Amino acid sequence: MANPIICPLCKGRLLDLPRTCPGCGGDLGGLVKLRDFANRRFNTGLRMAKAERWEEAEEAMVAALAIDPGDAEAGRVLAKIRQKSAGRRRRRPSQPD
Ligand SMILES: [Zn+2]
Repeated sequence: MANPIICPLCKGRLLDLPRTCPGCGGDLGGLVKLRDFANRRFNTGLRMAKAERWEEAEEAMVAALAIDPGDAEAGRVLAKIRQKSAGRRRRRPSQPD
């Protein structure tokens, strides 16, 4: 993630997300967990998209974006997912039974 991370305690800018803020010494463990969660949702979204499970893919990407709205890659992937899922609703490929 390229966007700057701001310490919620001292509003200092951080280059990375350490467990403890170097500026104020505050505990950033919760933020670290949140970022990990966003990354997991993003990865799940990619996996679901590959499996053509568009609804689950969209849900996961939306969650990742809600946590990190500046994540341009997640935004791009979400746009693709929505295109694909719209196309699929219009014309389902025939499936062997
Ligand atoms: Zn701080």
